[in-house]
Amino acid sequence: MDKPATPNSFRTGPDEQGMFGIFGGRFVAETLMPLILDLERHWNEVKNDPDFKAELTDLSTHYAGRPSKLYFAEGLTKHLREVSSAKGLGGGAKVYFKREDLNHTGSHKINNCLGQILLAKRMGKKRIIAETGAGQHGVASATVAARFGFPCVVYMGATDVARQSPNVFRMKLLGAEVRPVTAGHGTLKDAMNEALRDWVTNVEDTYYLIGTAAGPHPYPELVRDFQSVIGTEARAQILEQEGRLPDTIIACVGGGSNAIGLFHPFLDDKEVRIIGIEAGGRGLDGIEHCASMNAGAPGVLHGNRTYLLQNSDGQIMDGHSISAGLDYPGVGPEHSWLRDSGRVEYVPILDDEALEAFKLTTRVEGIIPALESAHAIAHAVKIVPAMDKDQIVIVNLSGRGDKDVHTVASMLGMEI
Ligand SMILES: *Cc1c(COP(=O)(O)O)cnc(C)c1O
Repeated sequence: MDKPATPNSFRTGPDEQGMFGIFGGRFVAETLMPLILDLERHWNEVKNDPDFKAELTDLSTHYAGRPSKLYFAEGLTKHLREVSSAKGLGGGAKVYFKREDLNHTGSHKINNCLGQILLAKRMGKKRIIAETGAGQHGVASATVAARFGFPCVVYMGATDVARQSPNVFRMKLLGAEVRPVTAGHGTLKDAMNEALRDWVTNVEDTYYLIGTAAGPHPYPELVRDFQSVIGTEARAQILEQEGRLPDTIIACVGGGSNAIGLFHPFLDDKEVRIIGIEAGGRGLDGIEHCASMNAGAPGVLHGNRTYLLQNSDGQIMDGHSISAGLDYPGVGPEHSWLRDSGRVEYVPILDDEALEAFKLTTRVEGIIPALESAHAIAHAVKIVPAMDKDQIVIVNLSGRGDKDVHTVASMLGMEI
């Protein structure tokens, strides 16, 4: 189904230095360089290895539950057609959800974790480390570590440990050790710094399982390739179900792994409009958002050059979002490049808009979406009524919202 990359393709990057234009690369300490190069060598070995692919496909199918469904969201479509009529527009595109929420552990994160745990096994590593913010990637990492019998250490900001106790408990049940990080504000950025530090000091036996399409090369590439199963399936499924490509595809962007996974197989389909949704938080005027591409500037963080939230002194800011999974001050470098090249539009959605979309989807579809995914749905809610009835929109439902019920309850002034 995938077209071969051409010289004018948006699908050829990164180059040998790990650059997507001026973004990406590997800005790491000298001591980390040999590890990064070793990882790159093994990645280049496995990425076209049929045995590796077969093992990953088998696990994806029988353990994670792939392929995920492409679901016609009839209730939401009907609702948005009524909105369209009420506005005198008489339109309303068909909305489909790519159901990553149905995967084992409840989101797209397992796709990346299964790929990387197999890579760690190939490399003969004995120990897994990971960083986590809300705990979703920590849980997925602890899950695959349990499955393959690896000891696993998860770095998590102390602030996050306190506010995400159910996920901390899950990781412990799965046999992982959760190490609270008190540096900085005790959030994801600090946890990632600490994981990089652990990696340098345990060169021989440790594999660092990064949770999103960021970090030094080759992580943005390999995470993208493991997540591209989302877009490859969605492209084939819509051709099968509708006989044509979608007009618009939408995904939320934290570090950018579910988004690049959906987008990448569509990048050379010029007729497909591609939209990434950033966390607009309480608005872009202040500092309470996580819209690094709409309100940030290029800089270097966690081993790569990309758009970052930073103040005028170049200090990295913490940001804010109602959804912990979008609460990262940077973004994967390929998104920065796709932004500047104009191929992908990046748009902010506010906390309140995401919350409305969360409630709406729950009511009209009987699906409780993750608050992250609700950002992508919220943008569909905005644009679909003005589209024609024969148009098609695919929204990536990156995860399920069970984990968010406490946040939503407190936003609504309710108690559980
Ligand atoms: C972690 C997470 C995200 C954000 O991460 P990306 O790397 O940007 O995909 C989005 N949705 C869900 C459900 C998540 O768990």
